[in-house]
Amino acid sequence: MSQMPADAEERRAVPPVICYPPETLPDPQLALKQAARAGAEKLSEVRVPPREARCFEVKAGQFVRITSVEGPQVGDLNLWNAQDLGERFFSGKTRALHGTHVSTGDRLWSSLPHLRAMATVVADTLDWYGIDEFGGAVHDVIGTRCDPYTGHLLSGVQYHHCCHSNLTRALAEARGLPLEHAELHVHDVLNVFMCTGFTRDTGQYFMKASPVRPGDHFELFAEIDLLGALSACPGGDCSAEHTSDAAACHPLLVEVFAPAPEALAGWEPAPANGYDRTHGLG
Ligand SMILES: [Zn+2]
Repeated sequence: MSQMPADAEERRAVPPVICYPPETLPDPQLALKQAARAGAEKLSEVRVPPREARCFEVKAGQFVRITSVEGPQVGDLNLWNAQDLGERFFSGKTRALHGTHVSTGDRLWSSLPHLRAMATVVADTLDWYGIDEFGGAVHDVIGTRCDPYTGHLLSGVQYHHCCHSNLTRALAEARGLPLEHAELHVHDVLNVFMCTGFTRDTGQYFMKASPVRPGDHFELFAEIDLLGALSACPGGDCSAEHTSDAAACHPLLVEVFAPAPEALAGWEPAPANGYDRTHGLG
């Protein structure tokens, strides 16, 4: 350990500055969207089996609700622009803009060079949870997705139902892609219902039993046409382990709802980012 400087405490005492104050982001128009949701009609549903993933499509202006059914279960979510898989959910920037965990009013942002709101969180029945005494909270954008490569590095296993693999198979099937191409489109997820944080003493990523119970839901409003994929994580409620068939796992329900068109008067799909890329890179 290096020698502590004489002014160490003084340096530590400097107050933090929020990197990206979100107040100047485009208005999420939450009240308008929630009012539109009240009269929305259900269009479709997909049931995601335990330790599997399924894809779904949500048009701009529609809602997608993810519901816990049967038992506590965590879901790993990927989102793409339905017309361009190159534009996908950017968990890192979402984290930088809104924090380590997301809830109602936060938005899910897309990858560079697109960087626009893909979706807005409009409902979250676990919003009461807050930040617990361990620093844990729900719906994180700090994890990646459980994957067989990390599993193999850590314990030498060959496990084929990690969220990474489930999402890959679901995308390959939905878009008719070879698995090795689909795999390259899979990205860091929004961990729906997962309870995670970083330990205060060592800064390590931790998980704990999700507080989700059947009937709890998390709902998004699509700001652009979306292709989504949701994996019912092999970790189940993620109270003990993943990357194995040891945990009790349950399905997740995905439902898509469409509001009456007039209910969204004043809302427009998210425009392309206004940064002048041509000049900037020229
Ligand atoms: Zn997983």
